[in-house]
Amino acid sequence: MGKKPEQLWTAPAREILRADPDSPIADLDRNGTPGFIGKKADGKRQLEERGAVLAELQELLYANGRSGDERSILLVLQGMDTSGKGGMVRHVIGHVDPQGVDHTAFGVPTANEKRHHFLWRIEKALPRAGQLGVFDRSHYEDVLVARVDDLVPKKVWQGRYKEINNFEKELVNRGTTIVKVAMFVSLDEQKERLQERLERPDKYWKYSPGDVTARKRWPEYRKAYQAMLDRTNTDYAPWYVVPADRKWYSRIAVTELLIDAFERLDLDWPPADFDIEKEKRRLAAS
Ligand code: AMP
Ligand code: MG
Repeated sequence: MGKKPEQLWTAPAREILRADPDSPIADLDRNGTPGFIGKKADGKRQLEERGAVLAELQELLYANGRSGDERSILLVLQGMDTSGKGGMVRHVIGHVDPQGVDHTAFGVPTANEKRHHFLWRIEKALPRAGQLGVFDRSHYEDVLVARVDDLVPKKVWQGRYKEINNFEKELVNRGTTIVKVAMFVSLDEQKERLQERLERPDKYWKYSPGDVTARKRWPEYRKAYQAMLDRTNTDYAPWYVVPADRKWYSRIAVTELLIDAFERLDLDWPPADFDIEKEKRRLAAS
């Protein structure tokens, strides 16, 4: 109790969670809390404290965006159903001013979207200058569900890894910091969460029969997720691997990753673009 947030991490989340080709996700402890030495209560307290820090940083970015700074941040959330993507948006992004957030949840492509290149709908949803973009699912579905369910021929999805890397590189060059988070829930924990969705009328809406179908393809999904991490974990748009059985942990982990991304922008409050003394006099006389 009483420890400062930074004392509860053995090293920055950015270092601990960075996807590592030598640590396959098959070996990941999805119930783990890597790098965090506190307990659930510490985590919950930390979420509030660090959420306030995140809110301030987001306001700084927004203010700079209003003053002509072109930069933005894009959080990409990927994970199987029930991994907690929606909760991440409510409980982490929920700390910041909604007007500074460009949020998009990507579902099955519409008939119109299907007529376009897979990055077409992504391009349209990119964060504007000064905004924090949040993708709940993303272009990575096109190398995950598309691969597992054979939605396109193999040679098509195989070419997409490179297309995605090129696309993200371009995006980074235009001033967007990309934070990619892959959330991993265990098969057992997922079962419990799905069960809850079937037992509580307020959760039926979250349930989809397709979720159970996807459970049967768990090993194929794991393979697709591993390939995604192996092939798109670039220096300019790195992946972070977040165990998701403990929601309180995944939420503070992503909060730290975002704070880190904001801090690296090294923002200050934009200077006034008017004569402050003159405006004070005008105001006093008004
Ligand atoms: P949910 O996130 O629970 O609302 O579910 C969205 C569904 O849309 C998931 O089953 C995804 O696999 C599916 N989905 C998202 N993007 C794509 C895509 N590009 N192609 C096919 N299915 C997709
Ligand atoms: Mg769902």
